[in-house]
Amino acid sequence: MAGILMPHESRNPLTRLDPNAPLVLDTRALGRRPGSSREEHLSVPAPENLGVEMVGVPESAALELDLRFEAVLEGVLVTGTATVPLRGECARCLDPIASTFEAEFQELFVYDDTRSGGNAADDELRLEGDLIDLEPVLRDAVVLALPLSPLCRDDCPGLCPDCGARLADVDPDHDHDAADPRWAALRGLADDTAPGPSDRGNGSSNGSRAPSDRRERKQEG
Ligand SMILES: [Zn+2]
Ligand SMILES: [Zn+2]
Repeated sequence: MAGILMPHESRNPLTRLDPNAPLVLDTRALGRRPGSSREEHLSVPAPENLGVEMVGVPESAALELDLRFEAVLEGVLVTGTATVPLRGECARCLDPIASTFEAEFQELFVYDDTRSGGNAADDELRLEGDLIDLEPVLRDAVVLALPLSPLCRDDCPGLCPDCGARLADVDPDHDHDAADPRWAALRGLADDTAPGPSDRGNGSSNGSRAPSDRRERKQEG
């Protein structure tokens, strides 16, 4: 069996793909005949860390993949749609979010024994034998398409900047203006105290700076 290995496999420190990994797919049925194609629907468990800070796919949740494999001259073109469950937090009100998301992708996997391999870009995806690893493709498609600031709903009003209440839950006229005597009193307090320390702090430095300013102006003139 060892004789089947391509000579360059020993030079290439590529990890050999695990044919049983959920996102490692076998393209042998295409027979490497350009023009032949297959479609497949798969349901596979999500890999870990498939997401961004505020939203992502829970590990092991079911990913639905609609895939089309087409043999072309240089390799296998994979076109697909992944339908994934999402869990996260609303960027405005921090409520939990649960939804589903569709990501589309298309990638060419180049045969690992192709003659043009020498010119191949480093980031080019390759078949290993008849196997392709769809995980990096899926990861790019899903992670790059996820919103960095997911919302529980498009018009989520977020949280009250004064008290932190969810504005979706409180009165439409929820407000903290001077009508509330407690806030009015606090504001009065702030108005009285705020200028005090800063005045005193500036007072001494202004006093010492003023004469030197005057001296400099005289020297220049
Ligand atoms: Zn929200
Ligand atoms: Zn409030």
